[in-house]
Amino acid sequence: MKITIGHLYPDLLNLYGDRGNIQCLMRRCQWRGIEAETIAFELNDTIDFSGLDIVLLGGGSDREQMLVCEKLKEIQKDFKAYVEDNGVVIAICGGYQLLGSYYKTDQGMITGLDLVDMYTEQGEGRLISNIILQSDLFEMPIVGFENHGGRTFINNCKPLGKVLYGSGNDGETGYEGVVYKNVIGTYLHGPLLPKNPQLADWLILHALQKKYGSDVELSPLDDSQEKEANEYICQRFLK
Ligand code: GLN
Repeated sequence: MKITIGHLYPDLLNLYGDRGNIQCLMRRCQWRGIEAETIAFELNDTIDFSGLDIVLLGGGSDREQMLVCEKLKEIQKDFKAYVEDNGVVIAICGGYQLLGSYYKTDQGMITGLDLVDMYTEQGEGRLISNIILQSDLFEMPIVGFENHGGRTFINNCKPLGKVLYGSGNDGETGYEGVVYKNVIGTYLHGPLLPKNPQLADWLILHALQKKYGSDVELSPLDDSQEKEANEYICQRFLK
């Protein structure tokens, strides 16, 4: 079995080292004997979505989001078809905001990809915090760090999780992220996947099942250190 990961615009959307999330996906595949390759696309590259199994759209500052937004209009149709065909996507922070129809900032309007029924507007101050979520996709809580000026509204979409600690999508509703088909969007940036192997495996499993059939299973890995770190964070902020 083989997984091809498409990393979209790491030259612009790589705030807080989203490349580490790609490495995590690759290693978790390789440890199981699954071949994994990554194709990094720069702004002027042509993207053939039919050759991709997981797409990662990383974080970026408002300025960088503004720069990629023109390009997004060109790839919107193909990206939408990929999503509707159950293609797997992980979109983080600035990339998460770009999944929606727009991100309105004081500097202007950033048109999004319109792949998920959601939108973002800049609010007063930034939401900066450690964050813990309980997602109904997993037993183990999702842990991470958020830092965003945008407030995201997901309309009737399913959130990734309920905020146990931190701010989440808009600092008010108590929810974080979005799940739409095989797309996950979240504000948790930095080492999201190394800290949350359950999320990394969700992406890998859904990509493999789409490609090779629903009976594909993932062999377990030794995640004892990750689990210990997760428990430590939960103890620190929830108790
Ligand atoms: N520019 C966006 C915001 O501040 C996202 C920032 C980020 O990717 N950390 O809301």
